Amino acid sequence: LARRAIVPGVPRPNAFSDAHLDRAAHRRNDAAWLQAAREGGDALAIVANAAAVAVSPAGTAVRLPLADAAALPGFGEPILVGVEDGVALFAVDGEGADLAALLGDRGSLAGLRDAALYMARDDAGLLAFASAILSWQRRHRFCGVCGTRTDSIEGGHARHCPNCGATNYPRTDPVIIVVVADPAEDRLLLGRQAVWPQGRYSALAGFVEPAESLEEAVAREVLEESGVTVSDVRYRSSQPWPFPGSLMLGFEATWVAGDPHPVDGELEDARWFGRAEIAAAAGEDVEWGEEDTSRLLLPPTAAIARTLIDGWLAGG
Ligand SMILES: [Zn+2]
Repeated sequence: LARRAIVPGVPRPNAFSDAHLDRAAHRRNDAAWLQAAREGGDALAIVANAAAVAVSPAGTAVRLPLADAAALPGFGEPILVGVEDGVALFAVDGEGADLAALLGDRGSLAGLRDAALYMARDDAGLLAFASAILSWQRRHRFCGVCGTRTDSIEGGHARHCPNCGATNYPRTDPVIIVVVADPAEDRLLLGRQAVWPQGRYSALAGFVEPAESLEEAVAREVLEESGVTVSDVRYRSSQPWPFPGSLMLGFEATWVAGDPHPVDGELEDARWFGRAEIAAAAGEDVEWGEEDTSRLLLPPTAAIARTLIDGWLAGG
């Protein structure tokens, strides 16, 4: 498997962020503009299904003429994702269609996680956005209040119930992810799930619960998963995680008390790693799912967990 030399501690934006896209939100309610854009002939389309996105041989997002995507069987409403160089860009759901045949030699299908490791950062963010909004549309066809089938409105960025009048907007589910540092011993608490590749340890993470602050969620998750109490919860950075609709909120916290150990069954192991061991492991990038190592294996650089670990290494 491919390994790429990276420089530990050098800050980088999180994968799926930094799309630099003009989302043109003011056009979503402009029916005349939307119609003209969809029918005008120069509009472009991002196609995706639930499992994959379309990536060009050059590592960019494939932008097809919207008219090509409209020929897909089961073609539904194209969703406005933005405007690039004056051209409207839509997302088209290719679920159930033969996307490989549609793409031809213009690109190939790839899982978004895998694609993020090698493709252009702007376009990984664009594909994350398209993938997330398509996924939300697929999963929210019926009203959560009364169960009636809803209508897509606002260029595909909301759904309206014709029965009870409720309007549903795309969801983003907050997930906290945290590395716990022990400054006195210069070590970092990491955990591993049993399903991960051998040797892989990462930050602790969990969904924010209703009526819970981010700081409370961090303290609760760390205690539930590792038996450790923390203080001084510091926000670091965030990462869109469209699998299907999460936002990872990255933190560093300071250890207060407790010996780390698996508590609630989510983790197979939770323990301290010293700076030298983490620094050695950080010198190599790895692919998702890499196996067969007995050494410490850190998360891929496309994951915010890695950003947090590298940030701790850099002392920031
Ligand atoms: Zn309803």
